[in-house]
Amino acid sequence: MINRWNTADSAKFNADDLGMRVYTSRLLGADEDLVLHGGGNTSVKITEKNLYGEDEEIIYVKGSGWDLATIEKAGFAPVQMRALLRMAEFGSMSDSEMVSRQRAAMTDPSAPNPSVEAILHAVIPFRFVDHTHTDAVVTITNTPNGEKRIRELYGDRVIYVSYVMPGFILAKKIYKETKSVDWKKFEGMVLLNHGLFTFHDDARLSYDRMIGLVSEAEQYLANQGAEISGGKDPGMVNGLRLSKLRKAVSVASGKAVIARFDSAPEAKFFSSIPGVEKIATRGPVTPDHVIRTKQKAMIVREDANSSVQNFVGEYKKYFERNRTTGLQMLNPAPAWAVLPGSGTVSFGNTFKDASIVGDIVRHTLKCIQQGEMLGGWTALPEKDIFEMEYWELEQAKLKKSGSAPEFAGKIVLITGAASGIGKACAEAFLSRGAAVAALDLNPDISSMFKGSAIGIQCDVTNAAALVHAVETTVNTFGGLDILVSNAGFFPSNYMISEMDSEAWSRSLQVNLTAHQQLFSATYPYLENGIEPAVVVIGSKNVPAPGPGASPYSVAKAGLTQLARIAALEWGKAGIRVNVLHPDSVYDTGIWTEEVLQSRASHYGLTVDEYKKRNVLKVEVLSREVADLACAMAGKLFLKITGAQLPVDGGNERVI
Ligand code: ZN
Repeated sequence: MINRWNTADSAKFNADDLGMRVYTSRLLGADEDLVLHGGGNTSVKITEKNLYGEDEEIIYVKGSGWDLATIEKAGFAPVQMRALLRMAEFGSMSDSEMVSRQRAAMTDPSAPNPSVEAILHAVIPFRFVDHTHTDAVVTITNTPNGEKRIRELYGDRVIYVSYVMPGFILAKKIYKETKSVDWKKFEGMVLLNHGLFTFHDDARLSYDRMIGLVSEAEQYLANQGAEISGGKDPGMVNGLRLSKLRKAVSVASGKAVIARFDSAPEAKFFSSIPGVEKIATRGPVTPDHVIRTKQKAMIVREDANSSVQNFVGEYKKYFERNRTTGLQMLNPAPAWAVLPGSGTVSFGNTFKDASIVGDIVRHTLKCIQQGEMLGGWTALPEKDIFEMEYWELEQAKLKKSGSAPEFAGKIVLITGAASGIGKACAEAFLSRGAAVAALDLNPDISSMFKGSAIGIQCDVTNAAALVHAVETTVNTFGGLDILVSNAGFFPSNYMISEMDSEAWSRSLQVNLTAHQQLFSATYPYLENGIEPAVVVIGSKNVPAPGPGASPYSVAKAGLTQLARIAALEWGKAGIRVNVLHPDSVYDTGIWTEEVLQSRASHYGLTVDEYKKRNVLKVEVLSREVADLACAMAGKLFLKITGAQLPVDGGNERVI
């Protein structure tokens, strides 16, 4: 393991101890083999003047919701040491009680909740305390002779603590067991099946000890031949198979989920191990992961539905076997799956959640394989895993969690998404929780959206490119639920008597044929979507055509007819197809002040009058059209198909 200490960098933080705490916490967070996504925690003890001018020892502990990799000073919760040390002497205390008492002992009420391991940090008599769930150390302890092996490795240089659930009982156990211990004799503390602590009065030396001990564990694994090659070939998955699997998991979850297929060679290699179903179902690396990954993976057989039903059935039995009164069963659907011979898939309510599970799974695969080489991967007993999964603090979070955004877990593909209505649609769906594939001819599309979006440069008139873009969408998010068929352009005006045949064909190609090709390419996935819907962006020109615009109006009328027929043909698959007919929206790049001025004067109007040429005398914005597209794809239109809705401020010829 690399020691990432850099003296020049550390100089930017060394003005005070809390600064150094931030610096070395980030160093730990930078290594995924140490901590993953919010895992691990650190602290520093500082003597400060309190409100009454007295010296008081305060411990700054990592706050919940912060990630070590990106933590700031504000991410540490300041708690009175004397309060935590007195709490360690309590006979018993529930973890929710511990959390509220810790909060009450904070000197800054606006700081985040201190880590549930705060008391444990307080008990360790050094200024800096570092704690990680290091892959290497936990892997060694998760084997049949794990304790013996780790004791052989570290000898009497560290303190060993057998597994108990994190929280008050762990802090209490360590407090009791180490009361008469001379901590100065030790470099660290191994929590079997859980992780490693190091400590020192100097930030750098505590960090060095962490890297040193973990490096020894890594070397031990290498010496035992427990190094994995990881495979060379990337995994492949059939998009249709993936979307069927995602649908089955979504149905079992009672909500749409994102499915991330991991095509990395390591994932394929693991999924190809003979007997993978035995090793992937024994348990997680550290109990901390169970909240995200569940106790075991689902093994996918040929039929996705029965694989999911089996998993759910087993999960319900597991819950019944271990439940205590008052517990609410969590979502029984799998959090990750092994597709034997192909790779792994992780699931989540959002792209981010599914990716986090995917990252944890990637480490789990490595640890399991190494554990197998040390005599067999041995996770904690089911009872301990269950206790962690159903921890009162997690159950409380569950009760508090609000409702998810409308399109959470839904996957939307939008064409012409780099500008105008298409861009507004991408933003609108993203803000409502969807994962979005944004297609456009403009190469800027690839970097235009952040978060749960991918931008794909694509010429929609190229059928092969379109098919590829749809497959990329499915391979990234796991399926497709909503299509916004929007890409189009307004060609120059031609009277029919003076038609330019090229302009005519080009308009039909972009405004009509490309949509038909998109419909064909997306149908197999929409058929396996969740509450699938197609929203077609038509035009005011369909119900109210104007002279000179036949290339555009005819193509859009054809598109509307295509949508009506799709509504008829696809109804049996539950796919709704509806059409929006917007008038021009003027809040986009192409409508510069100059263009607006010239158009307005052409009609003898001011720009403002020109924008509001409708019954209600209002300007329709692209955002408002996008809001309607969302409504059409959402619950409000669940029982509507084949509808055409004008969004134009009222047009006398349409009304
Ligand atoms: Zn821990």
